[in-house]
Amino acid sequence: MDAVDSGWSEQVAFLRALVAQPSVLGRTNGVMEVAAPLLAQLGMRVERVGLDLDVLRRQPGFSSPGWSYEGLYNLVGRLAGTGGGRSLVLNGHLDVVPSTPDEHWNHDPWAGEIEDGLFFGRGAADMKSGVSAMLFALRAVKEADARLGGDVVAQLVIDEECSGNGTLACLAAGAVGDACIVPEPFGLAMVSAHPGVLWARVTVRGRAAHAALASGAVNSAEKMYVVLQAVRELEREVNATELRHPAFEGVEHPLNHNVGQLHAGDWTSSVPEVCTMDVRFSCYPGEDLDAVQRRFADRVSAAAAADEWLREIPPEVRFFGFRAEGVIYDGASDIARVLASCHQAVTGRECQRVASTATIDNRFFDLHFGIPSVCYGPAGGQLHAPDEWVDLESVRTCTKVLACTIADWCGAR
Ligand SMILES: [Zn+2]
Repeated sequence: MDAVDSGWSEQVAFLRALVAQPSVLGRTNGVMEVAAPLLAQLGMRVERVGLDLDVLRRQPGFSSPGWSYEGLYNLVGRLAGTGGGRSLVLNGHLDVVPSTPDEHWNHDPWAGEIEDGLFFGRGAADMKSGVSAMLFALRAVKEADARLGGDVVAQLVIDEECSGNGTLACLAAGAVGDACIVPEPFGLAMVSAHPGVLWARVTVRGRAAHAALASGAVNSAEKMYVVLQAVRELEREVNATELRHPAFEGVEHPLNHNVGQLHAGDWTSSVPEVCTMDVRFSCYPGEDLDAVQRRFADRVSAAAAADEWLREIPPEVRFFGFRAEGVIYDGASDIARVLASCHQAVTGRECQRVASTATIDNRFFDLHFGIPSVCYGPAGGQLHAPDEWVDLESVRTCTKVLACTIADWCGAR
């Protein structure tokens, strides 16, 4: 605990250096190179693990991306134990979502400004502070001269915000262990379950014309409204109380169908020929993803069939990005019990469990690779929105809990 405290200002500086890298999709190598020296300092063997689609495609839980991985990589650090202990994977993503519109922020999204104990920035909570916590937890253990029996494997990954293929690539490359911790910002509580998450792109075709002749043309943006209404209706139905999965009992609106991107047109005085809409939608654990995709596509088709224009030129539905199953996590697994007891020891309070409405990379470990995992990290807010923040004291507490967990799990001497 003392070692965490004495390394604290360095930890905050490291977090600020991570946040200073605008590591959005396709631009993640910079942040990896900021983190790499720390892994080396920790005595880890550092490896850059690329994302090879030919390998990924054969893995369970693969999501087909709509973008290239050329030249991009994850970082894997391996610290060999002295033997006799259990191994542990620490996994955190370093990709972030865009910060735009930056002018809606009261703080520079990339500067790591601190106000009243809150640290602001894109990725501050989701989840660069969690990455700082897991690495500085390990550093504290080492500084306390504790020699770990089991190996520690750090996975710093990309593509968590759109597919999970970064983590999948690490696992496929053999970066595995007896258990895993992912410090996503769930307010020092453990995630008990999360829904499945999928992405779709709907394309609607209209009939372009000069605006002067718009009354005789077909506006694709206005036709997309038909599809949008259908998505809203589907969302209402799947969230019906009688369909509610018991793991989401206390959750007000478990399954969010989000219109995340909507694009049409290229000129104000032209009727737009094409409109595209990207939707993130979700389902309960145990639902078959093919059936969930079919349900979505069928709903779009049914709405189109009732429209004079769309009946003739039906919308196109394409699935890309997230194709992630829902999961229920075992709160009684060994790793969950060790972490909960460390949380209790550090904070004096019982560790709560919360159902998440977002997916997390833990799913690969538990569902596809048979590695029990826990998602537990600091407290933050405004994720994927302006003025994202993380509570610094919660980061410090999280670091202490993780240090204790690493020592307990891997066996410290
Ligand atoms: Zn995250």
